[in-house]
Amino acid sequence: MWKVVFSCSLVILALSATLHVSFRAPPVTMSRSALPTVMNAIRVARFGGPEVLKLESNVPMPQPSEGQVLLRVHAAGVNPVETYIRAGTYARKPELPFTPGSDAAGEIADVGAGVNNVKVGDRVFTRSAQGAYAQYALASAGDVQPLSAKLTYEQGAALPVPYLTAYRALFLRGAAKTGETVLIHGGTGGVGTAAIQLALSQGLRVLATGGTDAGLDMLRTLGVHGAFNHRQSGYTEQIHAATDGKGVDLIVENLANVNLDADLRLLALGGRVMVVGNRGRIEVNPRDLMMAEGDVRGVMLFHTTPEEYVTSYAAIQAAVDSGHVRPVIGKRFPLGESPAAHDDIINTSGALGKLVLTVE
Ligand code: NAP
Repeated sequence: MWKVVFSCSLVILALSATLHVSFRAPPVTMSRSALPTVMNAIRVARFGGPEVLKLESNVPMPQPSEGQVLLRVHAAGVNPVETYIRAGTYARKPELPFTPGSDAAGEIADVGAGVNNVKVGDRVFTRSAQGAYAQYALASAGDVQPLSAKLTYEQGAALPVPYLTAYRALFLRGAAKTGETVLIHGGTGGVGTAAIQLALSQGLRVLATGGTDAGLDMLRTLGVHGAFNHRQSGYTEQIHAATDGKGVDLIVENLANVNLDADLRLLALGGRVMVVGNRGRIEVNPRDLMMAEGDVRGVMLFHTTPEEYVTSYAAIQAAVDSGHVRPVIGKRFPLGESPAAHDDIINTSGALGKLVLTVE
């Protein structure tokens, strides 16, 4: 009798050991076999207008190499720079054909060798998806960030370029200090709303502009100390008055070719203009800069160093945790409507937050 019980236990032990081994078999292998072999993705075969963005349904599934992850994309951020890249007018041209987009949020679907900072199923966002306008995209494991449970995938996709740029403009290049007054010139879009939330999180006094009544309402809801319409004549005088004539310490400028001349007259002593967005030339009077002993500084996200990325993400994640950062989603387009999304982000005024692609 005892012999039977003993041998039964051995069998159970052996079975459970086998089961244990099979349960511990890498989930990666199991999920890999469950992944499709082709996916939907936007492909660009030649540079041109929005119509060159073509939805294809049989794009081969990318495989993560060592140090890479495969992301199941749920939402992709659309940034103006992607329209310049698509048109072939940007300084950096990708090889054709390519899938646009770098900002994405979704779940980890697979990991390559040596990846141990994330696992299959984790919710993440990244600034470095290699083709975010797709159902799946590769990214470097070092460039994925955990996505807080407080944010949706769409909000996650709105974080990378806008918030990293806003952080760079305000704090890394602009040296903003608590108590200073900042003007977010163009506060209603992706970078503008990000800059407002980050500036408020650090105790700055925030003035911002928008181009529509709905935009100004949104700015007030975000908690700005003053909202002004950049399409109304005389609005810069109103901004000056709102500083009791002292001027603003910092300007985050999203359309320098239109505003830089007026910006120089809005500066307080020692004020700085951060040129973030620019679409042409403008004449300025350097005397205004002398009067303020001011600075005009360029901001270019791709000059961010690895150490600065660490600092920037830490600040953004802390502001997500504290509730100060809640990306505002203005417009959503399904993946197949990428051409309309590209047309919209460049040609439609009246932004109400960030434009994202939703991916099923
Ligand atoms: P977006 O979401 O399309 O927002 C555009 C913003 O510009 C809106 O707030 C819009 O306001 C505002 N605007 C329109 N006319 C204006 C005017 N006359 N004066 C001031 N603002 C005006 O674009 P985004 O993603 O925020 O990007 C903003 C700019 O920054 C773009 O030019 C982009 O290329 C650039 N950018 C640069 C970097 C970098 O590294 N330097 C990084 C990211 C983005 P209304 O629609 O309410 O009028």
